Amino acid sequence: MTESRRADTGNSRPAAQQPAWPDPELLGEVTAGLSRLPELVFAEECDRLRERMGAVARGEAFVLQGGDCAETFAGVTADAINGKLRTLLQMAVVLTYGASVPVVKIGRLAGQYAKPRSQPTETRDGVTLPAYRGDAVNGLGFTPAERRPDPRRLLRMYESSAATLNLVRAFSTGGYAGLHHARDWNRAFVTDSPAGRRYEELADDIDRSLRFMEACGVTSQQLHAVEFFVSHEGLLLDYEKALTRTDPRTGYAYAGSGHMLWIGERTRDLDGAHVAHFARVRNPLAVKLGPGATADEALGYAAGLNPRNEPGRLTFVVRMGAERVRDRLPELVEKVRAAGAVVAWVCDPMHGNTFVAPSGHKTRRFGDIMDEVQGFFQVHRALGTHAGGLHVELTGDDVTECVGGDDVLVEDLHRRYETACDPRLNHRQSLELAFRAAEMLLD
Ligand code: PEP
Ligand code: MN
Repeated sequence: MTESRRADTGNSRPAAQQPAWPDPELLGEVTAGLSRLPELVFAEECDRLRERMGAVARGEAFVLQGGDCAETFAGVTADAINGKLRTLLQMAVVLTYGASVPVVKIGRLAGQYAKPRSQPTETRDGVTLPAYRGDAVNGLGFTPAERRPDPRRLLRMYESSAATLNLVRAFSTGGYAGLHHARDWNRAFVTDSPAGRRYEELADDIDRSLRFMEACGVTSQQLHAVEFFVSHEGLLLDYEKALTRTDPRTGYAYAGSGHMLWIGERTRDLDGAHVAHFARVRNPLAVKLGPGATADEALGYAAGLNPRNEPGRLTFVVRMGAERVRDRLPELVEKVRAAGAVVAWVCDPMHGNTFVAPSGHKTRRFGDIMDEVQGFFQVHRALGTHAGGLHVELTGDDVTECVGGDDVLVEDLHRRYETACDPRLNHRQSLELAFRAAEMLLD
């Protein structure tokens, strides 16, 4: 995929949630520059993830997708990225070992810099400014200068994604991600929580199994590396179009910005520019489905984004909320199945369960998150379909953003509330979720 031509997507449909860039000429210079830079991911890698997601769609594998709600430029540090990777690998091991199912691992990483917003502006103490739309667009600080969209940030998005991906690639193939290190991944974290102790026991078991296999003469390169993919919401069409590349092997267009792209709840208009743009690339895609999503819409995505009905091309990430998932999901799953559309079903138990605490912090209850996961599993079990995976917002840091799970109370939220957007599970809560989900998978 060496050609760096900017693919013409011929797209004149309305594009929701795009920034009001103040300087079109500068935006043009930036996107022209981006279109000359190398793609961040390769066509073959995207094809491989599509195959892996095909196994999920067929019911043969589970997918774990997770990371920050919004990555930040300041958050591109080795410690922060390693913390997220180790957390995801630990969760994947818990699921693989606990439920004996292959787990496809995808980060919400290396590109998750743009946010859709419910309100275009934010008002504080009588002052109204543009809403924060992610570091790719403007700054989080509540000043006119910070909140002014700046297209040069798109270049920093590319550089930050490249730096993150470089570490992801080194981490996943450099030996440390091998199962022999399963215990080490836990080291820098607080381990005196119930989930931390449970993990130590599981790592002991894995160690014993590996030693047994070695003693029997079984060795496999596969145990020394991990296959890890990256994904983000394909929101900013100026950026996504500039990073679209044509694969010279096949002539197909690919998003070069990440392996999997998803279309968010606020931009999934069937006649909108996002669906039209991503219909033209070959990457595996996901669409978020909120409580208002209809079966006709779901069938519209299947027809528009996956006309050849390829397993792995299309994933539905359901985010209905704990209260609604049991009512709203069955009809969608049944009608999609009746139409013969092959998709992977994934549960995002975060976005339907957000509320504002009395302190003003946006938060989520761990109990609601687990309840939505359970509802999602129950619906699929009742219908005989495959609950294909989890999509979560998490960090390896010891933050206090979601309440419950271990020891985070509503009164604790201010202690380490660090997210630039939505509240994330901390390391212990993430592990706890993985253990509970593994139990539900086995049930
Ligand atoms: C998100 O994933 O951070 C997000 C904004 O989700 P949704 O589009 O489902 O609201
Ligand atoms: Mn979010």
